[in-house]
Amino acid sequence: MPRFVEAARHAGVAAARALAGVERWLLPPACLLCDGQIPASEGDALICGLCRSRWRPVSGPWCGRCGQPSLAGVECRLCSTWPAGLERVRSAVWLAETARLAVHHLKYQGWWRIAEALAEAMCGLEPLTGQVSLIPVPLGARRLRERGYNQSEQIAAAVGRRMGLAVRADLLVRVRETTTQTALTPEGRQANVLRAFRASGAAGLRCVLVDDVFTTGANLAEAGAALARGGADSVEAVTFARAVEMVGQPSAESR
Ligand SMILES: [Zn+2]
Ligand SMILES: [Zn+2]
Repeated sequence: MPRFVEAARHAGVAAARALAGVERWLLPPACLLCDGQIPASEGDALICGLCRSRWRPVSGPWCGRCGQPSLAGVECRLCSTWPAGLERVRSAVWLAETARLAVHHLKYQGWWRIAEALAEAMCGLEPLTGQVSLIPVPLGARRLRERGYNQSEQIAAAVGRRMGLAVRADLLVRVRETTTQTALTPEGRQANVLRAFRASGAAGLRCVLVDDVFTTGANLAEAGAALARGGADSVEAVTFARAVEMVGQPSAESR
């Protein structure tokens, strides 16, 4: 690590992140995930085409509501306990290999600009049809302070720019900090996020929640219920990735 970045770590995480961006700008472009060269034709992309080509799209048949691949005619165990409100969730790719690495860099390494590549993969998702309003899933105040930004807001902004959609980060607030979801069972996660969100100003809007990773959907379902209580016309959700796991096996990543 260059000395000036190291020095900045003492000055504060935010400063280190800013300098990491400068460092990136000064060096020849290399993929953040594999260190391979990024051709000039890809502009200032952070992730090379090869790494992006390894992202495995989530494909059907899936549960009409939560988007989890399922067998036709079998009741979905993932979303059957969700509160009313959230109508449909779709995810772009499986959270594996380079997709997992990309999310890790976005959430834990300060590389907020990776959101551009994630957004590109999400643009074809069904809920992003027509003039919907994008609602980033809010972070708790403590995590927002630690991270310096909300990764979901970065993704929503990038999707909004690409598709000409409004981003409304002002409609949904997290009223209760939830504990890390990682160690919880699906039932525990549901209880953990119960009434964790409050919405205002959503009346009459077609809302699409935006998040980085879908694990059990408990968070999204609660956020969706809050928007529905707030009078939203419809509530759907999109995520970049979907955790590759059976329900009940917590993911390695947490919010
Ligand atoms: Zn790469
Ligand atoms: Zn389902």
